[in-house]
Amino acid sequence: MVEIVQMIDKKAMWEKILGAIFGFIDRGHLLTIFVNSAVISYENGVLLIGFASIIGPDYVKEKYHAKIFPVIKDIYPDLVSVEYEMKSSLIDDDYPDKLPVDTFMSVIGTQRKERKVPNKQEVILEGGMRSKILNKRYTLQNFIAGSENRLVHAACLAVGAKPAGIYNPLYIYGDVGLGKTHLLQATGQEILKNFPNKKVVYMTAEHFINKIIDAIGKKHTKPFKDEYRNLDCLIVDDIQFFANKATSEQEFFHTFNDLYDNGKQIILSADRPPRELDGFDDRLKSRFGMGMLIEISKPSFETRLAILKAKCAEYEIMLDPEVVEFIAFNVTQSVREMIGVLVTAIGEAQLENATPTIRTVAQVIRKLNREQGAETIDMRDQQKSVVRGLEDVVDIVAKYFSLTKSDLVGSDRKKEVMTPRQITMYLIREILNQSYESIGDCFGGRNHTTVMHACNKVVNQMKIDPKLQRDIGALKKELGF
Ligand code: ADP
Ligand code: MG
Repeated sequence: MVEIVQMIDKKAMWEKILGAIFGFIDRGHLLTIFVNSAVISYENGVLLIGFASIIGPDYVKEKYHAKIFPVIKDIYPDLVSVEYEMKSSLIDDDYPDKLPVDTFMSVIGTQRKERKVPNKQEVILEGGMRSKILNKRYTLQNFIAGSENRLVHAACLAVGAKPAGIYNPLYIYGDVGLGKTHLLQATGQEILKNFPNKKVVYMTAEHFINKIIDAIGKKHTKPFKDEYRNLDCLIVDDIQFFANKATSEQEFFHTFNDLYDNGKQIILSADRPPRELDGFDDRLKSRFGMGMLIEISKPSFETRLAILKAKCAEYEIMLDPEVVEFIAFNVTQSVREMIGVLVTAIGEAQLENATPTIRTVAQVIRKLNREQGAETIDMRDQQKSVVRGLEDVVDIVAKYFSLTKSDLVGSDRKKEVMTPRQITMYLIREILNQSYESIGDCFGGRNHTTVMHACNKVVNQMKIDPKLQRDIGALKKELGF
């Protein structure tokens, strides 16, 4: 039997489904959980829906599944079941099957101010090739350039004002999540804003490679560079992916030279400077360096704060300044991660009809840390750090009372040690929500009733002892709560 595999347009499918179900869903949940969702697959009657929010899948299953399942089945009679999963990459605007925010808003009945502007600019090239990846949300105006990235921002503006001038090629490099794609696309748009008739194409190196593989597969003999000949500006993102792909690199080399020799602007990004690109032809590396090479740096605390504030304004959400600062302090390695934490925290808080607190934000950061390893979120060098476990509480209390950690977890029954020990147990219970048993284990295998007694004692004592109250308040603040 021949099985017919039907290609589904997941975006169109999700648009249709959302249009049918949004009326069943709380507005707050639409704007937080569903705004970063998509159809992941639809196979053999099983529809898998992804959410960027950590709690999205469970929540939707519990609260909405029964209501929305029959509605979806009405549209897709073959539907057998609907499953939900978390997919953190859905936070990205560029996730391929995600609806653009404007489309999403109009599906759920909210008109955005800039609704009339098409989200993507399409350029049809010779041979029907299209560029459609310029995301209107990335502009040079909404890129927050702190002092560390003023130069790269200025170079982009200069290219936007005068393409193929002295900054050609413009080569921007730096770590992931720092805004390279944003700047590349924004520069493309700046050129189009200033010169609406120019042909600008943005593509990722991967996209370029796929096109070449495709062309080879179809035995296209026309040189690749000819297809790009009429461009005024070619933008290629993440060129490190050309490494060791000799054929693609060769084609890119020809395209690059052809455009460059004809006075066209080229903008490139990579995760490292040209000299460190492995598996690249030396001629190509030296050509990359002919124009302007700039590193995009990690934003400073002030810049991170400004980015978060701008995001809050964009989402029309007011947050406690301490909460915003807390995120900026603790998520330092990637702007993408930082925005992800903000959006997730807002989403989770809205489920409870609340606003994010330091506590909820700390939880989001901890979850992300666990999920991704601590590499992307580095909290080591920050003054205010997220409490990650019992150890941190013990550390901070020990310091506060000028004791050692072993004093705290040991068995000395002197009052100067006993009270801080009880306070530590109370804080671990209160902040980390640990069971009496596990706290007991941490304190040299004490019985859970001992821990319970200690916690109760602190609670009762606080009612009559203002100093204890102040100590606990101060400690909580130090712990970020
Ligand atoms: P990269 O391509 O370097 O991995 P992106 O350009 O995709 O990073 O940036 C990740 C996210 O962070 C995007 O949503 C982008 O708009 C945002 N972002 C990064 N830096 C800034 C900044 N300085 N100002 C505003 N938004 C920023
Ligand atoms: Mg990128």
